[in-house]
Amino acid sequence: MKTICILGSTGSIGTQALDVARTGGYKVCALAANSNIKLAEEQAREFRPRIVAVYNEQAARDLKNRLADTDISVVAGEEGVVAAAACDESDIVLNAIVGIAGLRPTISAITAKKTLALANKESLVTGGTLVTNLAKKNGVSILPVDSEHSAIFQCMQGLPENSLKKIILTASGGPFFGKAKEELKNVTVADALNHPNWSMGRKITIDSATLMNKGFEVIEAVHLFDVSADDIEVLVHRQSIVHSAVETVDGAVIAQLGTADMRLPIQYALTYPDRTPCPCKSLSLSDVGTLTFAKPDRETFPCLDLCIKASLQGGLKTAAVNGANEAAVELFLDGKISFLQIPELVERACDAQRDVKDFTIDDVFAADRAAREIVYSSR
Ligand code: NAD
Ligand code: MG
Repeated sequence: MKTICILGSTGSIGTQALDVARTGGYKVCALAANSNIKLAEEQAREFRPRIVAVYNEQAARDLKNRLADTDISVVAGEEGVVAAAACDESDIVLNAIVGIAGLRPTISAITAKKTLALANKESLVTGGTLVTNLAKKNGVSILPVDSEHSAIFQCMQGLPENSLKKIILTASGGPFFGKAKEELKNVTVADALNHPNWSMGRKITIDSATLMNKGFEVIEAVHLFDVSADDIEVLVHRQSIVHSAVETVDGAVIAQLGTADMRLPIQYALTYPDRTPCPCKSLSLSDVGTLTFAKPDRETFPCLDLCIKASLQGGLKTAAVNGANEAAVELFLDGKISFLQIPELVERACDAQRDVKDFTIDDVFAADRAAREIVYSSR
C-alpha cells in the first residue's frame, strides 16, 4: 500500500483525495493547508500523519496547541509546506494547493524524487519547462489529476511513440456559455460561482467562467504531453461526460468518459498503472442520452486565446498571465472589479512582460509579482 502526502488537504481536491485515501486504506504521512485548522485538526486526528504543515503562521501556532496531546509535528509557513512535500516516508505527493503557491512545493517534491500527482496546474503554467526538466533530471513521473489531463493520459496508455496526432480538450463552457459579451457586463460573483457541472474551489470556478481555466489546461497539456498549443483542439461539451480525447495518426479518436466526479482522476493518479474499484457513480450512457460538442466562443471569452498566445510565445508570458489572473480573480471576488475587467487586466500584464528565452525560478516569481502589480495599480 502506498504512503501519500496531500498538499492542500482542506480544499475541494484535498478532501476528495482523503476520501480516496480512506476507502483505499492508504497511509497518509503528511498534510498541508493554508488556514482552515478546524478541518486540518479533524484530518490529522483521523489520518495520523507525521507532519501537518500550515502556511499561515498564526493558524500553525493554533493547530500546534490543538494537537499538543498527539505526536504529530506541526510546521509553519512556506518552509513548512515545502518540508511536508519532501517528507521521507511518502511514495507519492498529491499537490492540490491553489495558485502559484503550489510551485515551490512541486519543486520540493520533485527534488526529493517523489512521484507527483499534480492537481495544481499553476505549477506548470508558471514553472513550465523548469518543472518538467527537473522531473526528467530526477526520473520523477508527473501524473495528472486534472480530469481532462487524466483522461488524455488514460487514452494514451499503450499508444506507440509518434502515433499522437492531436489532443481534443473538452470544456464544460461554464455558467456563461451561450451568452454575448454585452450580457456579461453586470454578472455578479454569485452568477460566476454557479458552475453547471462541477463543485470546486472558488478560484478555479471563476477561471471556469472566464475560460481562463481551459487556457491554463492547454498550457498544462503542452507541458505534460510535450506537444504544442497548436496540436490541441478545445471543444465545448456541456455534459462533462467525455473528459477529453486524443486523435491518433490513423484518424482514430480515443476518449475517456465518466461521471463528473474528481475521485476517479485522483484515484487513478494514486493507483497508476493499476485500477481499483472507486466510490464514483457508474456512468449510464442511456440516462445521459445526448452528447454535444461545439466550438468555443473565443471573442466573448478571450482568456482562452490569451493563454494559447502566451504558450506559443513561451518564456515568462504564461507566468505573467497566471499572476495577473490570480490578482484579478481576487479583486473580482472582493467586488472591486467587474467580470469583463479580468481578461482586460490579464492582457495588459501579459503584454508588459518582456520576451525572454531562459529563466530561473526567481524570474518566475519576479514576473508573477510584476504582473500582480500591474493589475492592482491599473484598476
Ligand atoms: P481549494 O481552494 O478548494 O483548495 C485549495 C487548498 O490549498 C486548500 O486546502 C488551502 O488551504 C490550500 N492552500 C492554499 N494556499 C496554500 C499555501 N500557500 N500553502 C499550503 N496550502 C495552501 O482549491 P481546489 O478547487 O481544491 O483546487 C486546488 C488545485 O487543483 C488548483 O490548482 C485547481 O486548479 C486544481 N483543480 C481543481 C479541481 C476541482 O475540482 N476542484 C479540478 C481540477 C484541478
Ligand atoms: Mg480540468
